[in-house]
Amino acid sequence: MKQILFLFIFITIISKCYSQKELDSIVNKGTAALGIDVLVNIFYIDDIKLSSDAEALLTGSKGVYDIYLRKNLTIKEAEMAICHELIHIYQFETKSLIKKTNGIVIWNGASYSYNDIPYEDREWEAEAFSNGMKLF
Ligand SMILES: [Zn+2]
Repeated sequence: MKQILFLFIFITIISKCYSQKELDSIVNKGTAALGIDVLVNIFYIDDIKLSSDAEALLTGSKGVYDIYLRKNLTIKEAEMAICHELIHIYQFETKSLIKKTNGIVIWNGASYSYNDIPYEDREWEAEAFSNGMKLF
């Protein structure tokens, strides 16, 4: 029983040990698959205030983006979070999603007030989840 517990802890620690290089490689494979030419930097969230239980945060525009990941993610969780954010980058690059500075979002040509739509009702999120899973 004790050995199984140690094995579990060992696997958990190992699954959270991965290099920046591995994350960059995930980004490169993802952008190549999506056919977008962008620069994506990966950072970790330490003191950035992150809403709810989100695993990642995306900033940037026009070809240059930063993805912030939670620090304790496993490699699979990190990969999944990156795939999700890459779909958002694709949405921005193809202008299916445009974020205005005044809290207005243009999604497929229609204008929405960002804060009026709950996270789970945002169509661009639904797309990022389904296409992000395919990319993953
Ligand atoms: Zn999202």
